[in-house]
Amino acid sequence: MPDDVSVSEKIVERLLAPTAIDLAPYVINPYQGCAFGCRFCYAQFSKTARAQSLPWGSYVTVKINALNVLRRELKRLRPARVLLGSTTECFQPIERRYGLSAAILALLVEQRIPVVILTRSPLILDVLALLRQAEVTVYVTVDAAPPVVRGTGAAAREPECRQQIQALRGLRAADVCCVPYVCPVFPGLFSPAEIFSALRGCGRIECELLNFAMAGLPEWLPQLRQQWPEVAECYARMIADEQYYDQITAQIGSELAQAAGECGLSLRMHTHAFQRYFQNRYRRGQSV
Ligand code: SF4
Repeated sequence: MPDDVSVSEKIVERLLAPTAIDLAPYVINPYQGCAFGCRFCYAQFSKTARAQSLPWGSYVTVKINALNVLRRELKRLRPARVLLGSTTECFQPIERRYGLSAAILALLVEQRIPVVILTRSPLILDVLALLRQAEVTVYVTVDAAPPVVRGTGAAAREPECRQQIQALRGLRAADVCCVPYVCPVFPGLFSPAEIFSALRGCGRIECELLNFAMAGLPEWLPQLRQQWPEVAECYARMIADEQYYDQITAQIGSELAQAAGECGLSLRMHTHAFQRYFQNRYRRGQSV
């Protein structure tokens, strides 16, 4: 756990939260904030994160009574499935101190409640034994962010793509159902060949296009403009011109589908409607 991350604890009244995400009817997020601090993280713009005075990546709030609250909730409610980590990372470094996500997972496994996990953390392998007993699908996000968008030096805390691919290999070797989720895909800056080739054998992958409204663009666009002026120009046009946006989006979809096919993978591509970027087309994502 990085020393400069502020950790606090809070008591919560509820843990299970209903959701419209079609992966499960209820979500659980044991932590608020995230020490990985990805610059493009969508969660940094959530209502809870905006209420924080500390910068994104420098604080974590632990829902310290989460397990007891869940035990109580499961006495009156039996969710058909639960999604772990819809907003922030369940298996971020603080998990090694508190073990909250592992304890929650153990309870769901004990109660035979199916689970979906979204993670970009290699620490997911810490709970491999539990995952082997669970009815679970683990979506492992593979980080395709270009270096200009990643933190540098001490600020580079988010896991690297090679660690996530390693985690996927560990899950597959243990027969845990897992799906590589390449996200976000940066138009003009993502070369799929190397990553897709490393994912050979996974059967299917999912990719999500950069969400222009939620990825903290103002933070890193100036650096992008210095290093890749033509890409910055392309982004500015995509944000303003619907026809151009749709054209580039379709072009990326077909390029990725071809690259995936060459590696024996089927691709499900997630895009966002023009200027309605927060509305993922999860339900309409196409398998190609
Ligand atoms: S790991 Fe996930 S939740 Fe944490 S900062 Fe990165 S994108 Fe956000």
